[in-house]
Formats: sequence, structure tokens, C-alpha cells
Amino acid sequence: MALIVQKYGGTSVGSPERIKNVAKRVAKARAEGHDVVVVVSAMSGETNRLVALAHEMQEFPDPRELDVVLATGEQVTIGLLAMALKDIGVPAKSYTGWQVAVQTDDAHTKARIDHIDGGKMRADLKEGRVVIVAGFQGVTAGGDISTLGRGGSDTSAVALAAALEADECQIYTDVDGVYTTDPRVVPLPALLLAGMSTISFEEMLELASLGSKVLQIRSVEFAGKYKVRLRVLSSLEDGGEGTLITFEEDENMEQAVVKGIAFDKNQARINVRGVSDKPGIAYQILGSVADANIEVDMIIQNVGAQGTTDFSFTVPRGDYKQTLDLMNGLKDSLGAAEVNGDDTVCKVSIVGVGMRSHSGVAAQMFRAMAEEGINIQMISTSEIKVSVLIDEKYMELATRVLHKTFGLEQA
Ligand code: ASP
Ligand code: MG
Repeated sequence: MALIVQKYGGTSVGSPERIKNVAKRVAKARAEGHDVVVVVSAMSGETNRLVALAHEMQEFPDPRELDVVLATGEQVTIGLLAMALKDIGVPAKSYTGWQVAVQTDDAHTKARIDHIDGGKMRADLKEGRVVIVAGFQGVTAGGDISTLGRGGSDTSAVALAAALEADECQIYTDVDGVYTTDPRVVPLPALLLAGMSTISFEEMLELASLGSKVLQIRSVEFAGKYKVRLRVLSSLEDGGEGTLITFEEDENMEQAVVKGIAFDKNQARINVRGVSDKPGIAYQILGSVADANIEVDMIIQNVGAQGTTDFSFTVPRGDYKQTLDLMNGLKDSLGAAEVNGDDTVCKVSIVGVGMRSHSGVAAQMFRAMAEEGINIQMISTSEIKVSVLIDEKYMELATRVLHKTFGLEQA
């Protein structure tokens, strides 16, 4: 007998019919003798609807109150799923995040989990109940409702699995595992062959951070930190093994050097031109961005010439305007000649632990871009990834071309 945490995303609980299917799947795991904790998202489209409603009240919704509104989506699904389970004779009990309690910091709309008290859930499990917990939400030390950022139910599930020392955390989604890239961009027939049975934790971390929407990045970080056994499976089909995220690297030499292609449109580039080339400038620029709680991704500083240098970096698109304003405010103290930017860019990345032992992978990527006439604006690399910033209108083309260049069709 094992303790399993299962998480079902918005599509999987998108209609009463689908919730009933989830109940059946949970009942099956329980019939196999497992203790089951279920984490659910809001029904598909619901969180977007709530965000839109909030924006009708306030241009910039008050973060505390926005969380009060957003957390309702998941509260509906936990109750409905508990009913569906009871209806087929499975004892179950639903809990909101604060009831469990999932303690978070007080960064509303992007809170981090500090601690989860497993006591209540363990008591229920012992009594033979399925425990259902609302994903995406928690409670601050002051008792306010918080949410964990979009896609945060994944993180809820992994954090619960860690707190309860579960044997496995299963993320059920509408794709049957992790793909080499997003099925919406590269046509499915090519991809069907490419569903992976395993992916290394590091690769998954890169893909998640690079915009692959399969798992929220924090959930992957959490899994790494607490060594949670994590699996991504399809909730729409039966029987597949999905993709297991492994902590040992695959020694298999035939494994593709590039394991996946990620892309991300949530990017904007800021340029600060002609700043003084002296100590403290990078700190002045990026420190002020960090103080505004804006996450910087790619950074380039040129070698200085005639005492000045150019500085470029990327931020999430939603933070573009604020960052531009910040830089314009600093323009004089930086001695900058010009501040400008572009929020019609995207980042496309290749990822694979195999890159460590293969040279020329980046060059191959750049050649593929060149052959398509796609201009590269920025480049960043790590041991296991290469990312390029390009015009967003080439995003799909670049992804498709790279998928082919690195032989992922036959993976
Ligand atoms: N319902 C939330 C969202 O749409 C959380 C989640 O689904 O993971 O982002
Ligand atoms: Mg999700």
C-alpha cells in the first residue's frame, strides 16, 4: 500500500462529467489499496474568468482581495469532487488551503509555501477517507487567503506530497506525459512518437522555467528539494505510464542530445544604452528592478567603449511598462543616453543534459535560425540549454525547425 497524491488540472475537472471520471480514477487507486490525497485546480477557464471579473472592479486589483476572489475557483471543484466520490460510495472530505493548512508567505498572488501541517489529512486517511485539497491556495501567517501564482496547483500537490512523505505525486493533465515541445505548435503525429517515458529533473526544471506549461516551475523545484517522486500522466486516457521525472541521469548514449524545445512569449526586452562603464552600474539597474519584485531573465552587457556601455535584459511582458518607467526614472543618475525596449519578442530554447558532452549544439541551433532568416537578438546558455530571443512572429517557425533539426520527430 502506498500513499499517492494525485493532482488534476483544469481540463481534467472541466465539466461535471469529467469530475465524475476523476472520481472513478481516484476510486480505482483506492481500490488498489492506496491512500489517496487529491489536489484539484479550478474548472478550465474559471481562473481566467475570475481574473477578468476582478479587473472590471479595479484596473490593478488589490492583491489581497484578488486572492479572495481567485481562491473560489478551486473551492468549487473540491466540493464537487467530494460529492462525486461519495456518490460512488467512496468516503471523502474536501478542504480549502487554509483549512489544511497550507501556510504561505504574504506575497499575494505569488505566495510561497512555508509549511504544511499534515495532521488533519493523516487522521482522515487513517479513517479510510480520500482527502481532497484545493490547489493554488494557502493562508498567510496573518490568516489571509493567498494564492501561489498561475499553475500553482502543481506546486500545491508536490508540497503536499513532500509534507506527507507520499510515495508518488501524480500530475494528471490533458497530455499524456511530457512532450518534446508543445503539441499545439508541432503537429501531433510527429509528437505522438515523442512522448517521453522519463526525463531528468534538471531537464524538467529547464523546460518548466523556459515556458513549457506542463508543470509550474516551483513544483519542479519543490520536487527536487524534497526528492518527491513525480509523474505526469493523462487524465483523458487510461493505462499509460506517463513521464517519470528522474533524479538520476540516463546513461543511455543513444538518447537525444536535445530533449525538448521550449518557447515563451511572456518576454519583453529593455535596452539601456550608453551608460557609464564603471563599477556599480549593473547593480543600480538590476537592483532597482529586483526591488520592484520584477524577475529579470536574460542579461547582456557589452564590453565598454569610450567609457560607456550598453545594457539589455528581459522581463515578463506584464512588467514591461513598469520596468521602462523605472529605467527612465534612473536615466539621469545612470548617465544613460537612451532607454527603449520591445515587447514583441519571444524566447525559444533547446534543452538536454546530453549537451554537456556534445559540442557544436549551439552552432547547429544558430545555423537553423540563419537558414530561416530569423534574427537572434539575445543569447543565453547554461550547461544544458541554449536560449535565443527572437521576434515573436517567428516563434512557431523556430520551434518547428528546431524540433526537426535535432531529430526529435524520431525520438
Ligand atoms: N487555477 C489556477 C490557474 O488557472 C491554478 C492551477 O490551475 O494550477 O492558474
Ligand atoms: Mg497547469
